[in-house]
This record gives sequence, C-alpha cells and structure tokens, in this order.
Amino acid sequence: MKTMKAVQFIEAGRPPEIVDLPVPAPGPGEVLIRVAGAGVCHSDLHVLDHGIGRPGQFTLGHENAGWIAALGEGVSGWKEGDPVAVYGPWGCGTCHSCSTSAENYCERHASIPSMGGGLGSDGGMAGYMIVPSARLLVPLGDLDPAKTAPLSDAALTPYHAIKAALPLMTPDATVLVLGIGGLGHMALQILRALTPARVIAGDIDAARLEHARELGATYTVNTGEKTAAEEIRDITGPRGVTVALDFVGAQPTIDLSASVVGRNSRIAVVGLAGGVLHYAANNPPYGTQVSVPYWGSRTELMEVIALAQTGKIAAQVETFPLEQAVNVYERLREGKIHGRAVLIP
Ligand SMILES: [Zn+2]
Ligand SMILES: [Zn+2]
Repeated sequence: MKTMKAVQFIEAGRPPEIVDLPVPAPGPGEVLIRVAGAGVCHSDLHVLDHGIGRPGQFTLGHENAGWIAALGEGVSGWKEGDPVAVYGPWGCGTCHSCSTSAENYCERHASIPSMGGGLGSDGGMAGYMIVPSARLLVPLGDLDPAKTAPLSDAALTPYHAIKAALPLMTPDATVLVLGIGGLGHMALQILRALTPARVIAGDIDAARLEHARELGATYTVNTGEKTAAEEIRDITGPRGVTVALDFVGAQPTIDLSASVVGRNSRIAVVGLAGGVLHYAANNPPYGTQVSVPYWGSRTELMEVIALAQTGKIAAQVETFPLEQAVNVYERLREGKIHGRAVLIP
C-alpha cells in the first residue's frame, strides 16, 4: 500500500505529530488532490491549543493547493493533473448560504461533521488529501500551486472583509490594517489593487512595518507605542479612520480600532486573539458598523485567483519541507515567519 506523511492534530494542548498514513482513495463524488503546498495559518495555533470542539485526530492544513490526482466515481468536468486551489470552508452544499457559494456561512455549520479539510476533516499537510466534492475546487490556470496555496485563506479572508466595506473606501477615506502577518500582508496588496483609499498599517514589529511600506501602505504606525492612537488621529484628522481591519483581534488592537474610527465607520474583527469589543454611547462612535467576517465565499476565491493571475497580488511565501511542521508552528508562535509559511510535502 502506498503511504504518505501527514501532520496531525492529536488533541488540544498537544503539539502536532507527523504520522504515516495510507494514501486515500476517492469515494463516489470525491476528488483526490496531490498537495503542492499547505499554508501554515495562525488559526491553527488556536486549533492546536483549544481543539475544534469535536473529538478525534485529523490532518492539519486548511489552506491548500495542488493537482488533481484521481477522480471519484461520477465526477466530471475535471481531469488528472489540473492545478487547483481547494476552497477551505466546507459547508453542507445545499442550504441558502451554500447555494450562493458562501459556504463560510453554512447554516448547518453546527451539525455537519467538520468545518473543512484541516478543521475536523483531513487537510492538506500531507502528500495527498481528499476533497469531498469537486464544487470545492477552483482552477489555478498557470499559477504555481505551491506559491498560491495561501490564496485560499490568507488572501480570501481579507478579500471578503475588504469587499464588504468597499463602498466606504473612497479616495478621501483612511483604512487601518492591524497585524501585518499572513493575512495583513495580503490585505495591503488587495487594498492597493481595489481601492484609492489611504492605508495606515499598524504592527508592533518594525520589520513588518517595513514590509508594509514595501507593499504600499501610505503610513505605518508602531501599535506597541502608547502614542499609536494619537499618531493615527494626526494622520486622519477629525474624520478618523473610516475602516479598521483587525487581523489580530487582541484586546489592545480592538481598543485601538474603537478609539480611532470616526462616525459612520466600520470595524471588521478578523483575528481570533480573544479581545472583546465594548460598547457605550458614542463609543465606538455613532454610525459605526461592527462586522466579524469569517473566511470568504467560493466565488470570492475565484476573484482572488483572478487578481493573482493579473500579478496584482502575490503571497510572500517561505517554504519548508512538511517534516519541519512542528518547528514551523513554533516559529509562527514566536512571530518569526515573514509573510506566509507553506509546507511542501
Ligand atoms: Zn487560516
Ligand atoms: Zn450549507
């Protein structure tokens, strides 16, 4: 029997383990993918520390791309060798949200057995992965699957958050991006490609702020400094920040967003660091919309891939052999990854 290495979640509070598994065979309707690359996402640290609320071990990796290796019975319209991105949030496929391609907001999310490959089902940190339906595949054209694995989360998630706020992002508006890691570095590129708004990048790390300037941030602010809110208000003037995109979600970033947005603005909290947004009259200011976007839709992944095909966005990728996964997660925890780490099986 052909075997492969896989990086598995064992139980909450334990580091991942590398195990040998048989290469799976696709059942009816399923597709077997030969994995080219699997992105290493900060939310995996959340999964490793706290689990996903369901028992059982599974292969990690929810940000995947590769080539079709085998088609299950009844699958048509694809052929072996096609390069594909794997859409990550696997919904029921038939509810109202899933029917609009927004499987990230599947109405049956609480009753389906997993949130996706790498999030309950076996994901892409392995030589091969099973995708339960061909509807979850998006063609990559001539993009390199290993380098584009991060598009399906690190780019799709900010794209979804930005697209929903686009009408506010006028030439005289200011967008604040907090956290210039895997998602933040894609958010800056997406903003530059889609909007004329001024962009302030905030992070506590000087090298990341430098990176933000290279990616087109108009201003950078070290949010570890006590003067950060004041610096941001100096840039925006009385209007304040129009859209704050928080890719950290910790108490200090949530408090900062709430203190610098103006009236009739928007705060989108994407990061999972456990902060709480408090509300009192006019604080955050009147008219502020608060959103908690989660991932993105399949059609938005198509749009992200189209944007990457024009060369307007590209994930800055550090690649590592799959065998180094445990060490890569430690590096991610210590904030030592530049852009996105991708494991190559
Ligand atoms: Zn993720
Ligand atoms: Zn659904």
